[in-house]
Amino acid sequence: AVGSQWNATEMEEAARRHLLSPSEAMEKLGQSARPLLSRGDGIYVIDAKGRRLIDGPAGMWCTQIGYNRREIADAIAEQALQLAYNSPWYTVNSPSAELAARIAAMTPGDLNRVFFTTGGSTAVDSALRFVEFYNNVLGRPEKKHIIVRREGYHGSTALTAACSGRAGNWPNFDIISDRISFISSPNIRLAGDKDEAAFLDFLVDEFRQEIARVGADKVAVFLAEPLLASGGVIIPPKGYHARFKAVCEEHDIVYISDEVVTGFGRCGEWFASEKVFGVVPDIITFAKGVTSGYVPLGGFAISERLLDKVSGDNARGSNYSNGYTYSGHPVSCAAALANIAVIEKDGILEHVRDISGYFAERLHSLADLPLVANVRASGLVGCVECLVDTSSPNVTDFDKRIGARIDIHCAELGLIVRPLGNMCVMSPALIITREQIDDMIGILRQGIE
Ligand code: PLP
Repeated sequence: AVGSQWNATEMEEAARRHLLSPSEAMEKLGQSARPLLSRGDGIYVIDAKGRRLIDGPAGMWCTQIGYNRREIADAIAEQALQLAYNSPWYTVNSPSAELAARIAAMTPGDLNRVFFTTGGSTAVDSALRFVEFYNNVLGRPEKKHIIVRREGYHGSTALTAACSGRAGNWPNFDIISDRISFISSPNIRLAGDKDEAAFLDFLVDEFRQEIARVGADKVAVFLAEPLLASGGVIIPPKGYHARFKAVCEEHDIVYISDEVVTGFGRCGEWFASEKVFGVVPDIITFAKGVTSGYVPLGGFAISERLLDKVSGDNARGSNYSNGYTYSGHPVSCAAALANIAVIEKDGILEHVRDISGYFAERLHSLADLPLVANVRASGLVGCVECLVDTSSPNVTDFDKRIGARIDIHCAELGLIVRPLGNMCVMSPALIITREQIDDMIGILRQGIE
């Protein structure tokens, strides 16, 4: 570590003994070690043994501009020296003001006011809590129900975990369930014999039925990722979001687009909702790519039309009081501004639009492998889904988590994969070149083989 006297073995030992990671097989707590990464460089990470690996998932789909960019490090250092902290409750800082204005200009429609948080979970949590506040101020406290999709993922707070529908996500945790309901994932593989248009009709119909079941006067929010990222890069049928938004408008339901993964260039636009997926939501949440992962930051941008209903003459004496010590942290916001400057200077959005067809084509080239059942891609995010014959008596639990097995092989060959059950997710840094895509897919092919 920078400035530390400890060697890699001592670091690994400290991690084993003292770190509790976000994912632990508890019977092996303290026994097995995760790879210790010591450096990052562009699309690569370098482990403690000096091995260079392509970072296939870009950390957790977040290191958009890649590692080791001096501009971001300088912006962080300068801001830390200039003003390391200010209370967002009583004061403002310049980077957060400028960043809010920049984001307001990037978002579609009238989403012109920005609330900053510490990451993606707190962004979604805060957006949901804002809607709770909004409906209470409007004098309709019964309008609290949230509709989400199975296979969606929205975070790890009590509320956002409850909105995350992947089966088995939260074993042994207590999950709020009384005001959240799940509808189908827009996964075309659930369409049976329906074509895409008929499947979309089915999904919209199911949404309408769920609203009717709960009561339109009780449904407050529809919360959706433009594409379901952690659910396995599930790309909805064309027109899906616009149809759902129209239903929301009919019933005065707030449409929240969770762009924690798709925001900041992943799909070739600052935000994907409007330009890629054809919808202008009421609220957009963001995190990850806003700072390319250099420091934590998240937030949401909200429609003026919505705010107008509960502010000024319509405030009804209310006081919005919800936030974090680190809301709009000056160092994080300075890093975000520097990150945006790099994305602009290097033409990274254009690069993603230019290269994503090649990325999809190369990923689809893996479809000839017998183990590969399905390949999906949008922008610079893709997924290779493998199929294991689970009926075979020789299949072990480890085989069923085929993604983890592929990850182990690929790591030996120089690529980090994001394994999700039977899926391998690829979402590299947005600066990846054609040659590097070839290297990445070449290793993935060997790993699967
Ligand atoms: N929303 C989406 C769509 C995500 O994919 C994630 C994390 O992967 C989150 C929210 C939660 O973000 P964070 O882990 O920064 O709290």
